[in-house]
Amino acid sequence: MTVTGGVRVARRECRRVWVGRVAVGGGAPVSVQSMTKTPTADVDATLRQIAELTAAGCDIVRVAVPSQDDADALASIAGRSPIPVIADVHFQPRYVFAAIDAGCAGVRVNPGNIKRFDDRVADIASAARDRGVPIRIGVNAGSLDPRLLAKHHGKAGPEALVESALWEASLFAEHDFHDVKISVKHHDPVVMMAAYEQLAAQCDYPLHVGVTEAGPEFQGVIKSAVAFGVLLREGIGDTIRVSLSAHPVREVKAGIGILESLGLRPRRLEIISCPSCGRAQVDVHRLTEQVAAAFEGFPAPIRVAVMGCVVNGPGEAREADIGVSSGNGKGQIFVRGQVVATVPEHRIVETLLDQALALTGTTAGPSV
Ligand code: SF4
Repeated sequence: MTVTGGVRVARRECRRVWVGRVAVGGGAPVSVQSMTKTPTADVDATLRQIAELTAAGCDIVRVAVPSQDDADALASIAGRSPIPVIADVHFQPRYVFAAIDAGCAGVRVNPGNIKRFDDRVADIASAARDRGVPIRIGVNAGSLDPRLLAKHHGKAGPEALVESALWEASLFAEHDFHDVKISVKHHDPVVMMAAYEQLAAQCDYPLHVGVTEAGPEFQGVIKSAVAFGVLLREGIGDTIRVSLSAHPVREVKAGIGILESLGLRPRRLEIISCPSCGRAQVDVHRLTEQVAAAFEGFPAPIRVAVMGCVVNGPGEAREADIGVSSGNGKGQIFVRGQVVATVPEHRIVETLLDQALALTGTTAGPSV
C-alpha cells in the first residue's frame, strides 16, 4: 500500500524476485531500469555509461548481448558494475548460459526470437536456479512467436502478447522455476496498458513495465508517463524502463520523475512554476530554467516556487519551501511562507539557492 497526498494506492500482490541486491515485486519499491547504448564488448565505454546511469539514480542496468565478443565482456562488466547487470539475449540461447556463468544478476530472454525455445527451457531453468538468477520473459509486439502470431491472425494485440508470456512462463513452471518476471511491451500505450492489465489479472509474477520503441524523448516520455501512470495507479508494475531514442540517462531521469509524480518515490526537487501570461513582469521561462539549473542535484529534498506576478505568486510561493513572487524587476523571496527578502531580478536565483542551503542545513552547494 502506498499513500500519497492522502490517497491510498494498493499495489498488486505478486511474487518477489531478486535482481542482485534489488528486490522486484512482493511490495518492493518500484525500481528504475535503463539499458546501455554502447557496444557491450567495449567494456570501458559500457562501464562509463553504467557509472553515469548509476549517478542518475538507475537501479538496474541491462546490456545487449548480440555477439560472442559481447558475451565475453559480461564477466568484466558484471564484476565491476556498481548496480546489477541484466544480460539482454535474443536469438542465441548459448549467451543465456554465458551470462549466467559471467555473474549477471539477471537475464532477459525473448522467447519469440529463440528457435526451439521450448527445448531449451529445462537447461535455462536449471542453470538459472543453480546461480539464483531470475529470468525476464520479455515479450515484444515486434517479435512474437510465429505460431502465436499465426493463431492471432498476424495481430500482436494484448491477447497475443499475454498468451505468449503466460505460455512461456508455464514452460519454466513445468520445470518448477518461478524466479520469473514478465514484460509485454508494445509501442502503442493503449495496447500496452490493456496487455499489462490482462497479464496482471492472470498471474502473480512481478511485471517489468515499458512502452517499447516509445520514440524520441518528448514523445517517448509522454507515452510512457501516460501508460505507467495508469498502470501504477492501478497497482500494476514492479520495475520500469522508459525507452527513448535518447541518452539512457534521460530514460532514468524520466523514470524517476514518473515515480516521483505518482508519489511512489520521495521527490528530491520539485519546481512549481507558473506558465506565464500577459500579467508576467519577469521572463518566467528563463527564470525557471535558471532555477532548475541552479538546483540540479540539490543535496536535500526541496520544493521551489517560481511565480511571475502577484496573482498566484505569493500564495504558491508560501506553499513551497522556498519561493519567489516576481514583479517590477524585483523578486519577493519566501521561506516557508514568510517573506525574507526582496531582491533585484538578477539576484533572485542566488538568493533562492542561499536560502535553500540555509533552510536545509546543507553547507555544500548542489552536487551537479
Ligand atoms: Fe500569469 Fe501571474 Fe499566473 Fe504567472 S502567476 S501565470 S504571470 S497570472
